[in-house]
Amino acid sequence: MNDLPTLTELILKLTQTHKVRITRDDGSTEHVESDSLIQILRDEMFGGSNRGGAPTVKARLTINAGAFDLYTLIDRQAAEQWAAVTGRIPGLETTEAMMSRWAAAMQDVSPVTVTLPDTIDGPNGRKVVVWDRIIHTTAHNLAAGWVRQIEELLNPLPTGEIIAACIQCGVREVWRTVDGESIKSPAMMFIRDRVTGDSTEARCQACGTVWWPFQFKFLAEQIGINERATRAG
Ligand SMILES: [Zn+2]
Repeated sequence: MNDLPTLTELILKLTQTHKVRITRDDGSTEHVESDSLIQILRDEMFGGSNRGGAPTVKARLTINAGAFDLYTLIDRQAAEQWAAVTGRIPGLETTEAMMSRWAAAMQDVSPVTVTLPDTIDGPNGRKVVVWDRIIHTTAHNLAAGWVRQIEELLNPLPTGEIIAACIQCGVREVWRTVDGESIKSPAMMFIRDRVTGDSTEARCQACGTVWWPFQFKFLAEQIGINERATRAG
C-alpha cells in the first residue's frame, strides 16, 4: 500500500487545523490538534508561537529571517499557481485560499511551472533578488516541497559546521537568529541524514550554493587551496 500523502492531504496539512501524531518520551503516541503549517510558519516569522508565557517586547520585534524568506517564497509560488488556474491577478486572497483553489483544479501528476529567486549583483555592489529560475514539476511535488521546507525549518536536520570561507561567494560567517538572539556561525555547513548521520549535502548559507556528496572531494580541495592562500596573504 502506498502511504505517501496525496496532494489533497498535503494541502489540508498546509492550510487547515489538523491532527498530528506525537511520540511522548515514554514511547506512547497520541494525536493532538496542530495549526496549519502556513499559520505555524507565519507565527514563526515573529519569534515563534507564544508557547509558554507571554510574548516579550523583544520577541515581537525579532523577525526570524529564515521563516520570513520561506513564507515569502511559498506565498509567491502559491499566488503564481493560483493566477495560472484562475486567470486573475492575486489581490487580498490568503496563501491558504490560493493553495486550496489551485489544488482543487489539479491532479497529483498535473504539470506545473514554478519560479525561484536568484540573488544577482545589482548597481553599486548591492545584491538584487530576481525571480528568474523556472522549474517544471508536478502539483504533488510542489506541495510536498512546501510541506518539507516548512517541516525542516521547524525541525532542522542535523548539521555540521565547516570552518572555512565559501568557495563560491567567499563569505565565512553569517548571522543567524536563534531564540531571538543574533549569533554568528560559519556560512558553510554539512546537512546530515536524520537517521544515518551521513552528510547528504554541503551548503553555503550566504549564497545558497549546494554541493552533493560526489563533489565533497572537490570542495575539500578548493577549501584547502583558498585557506592556504588566505594564510599566505
Ligand atoms: Zn557562499
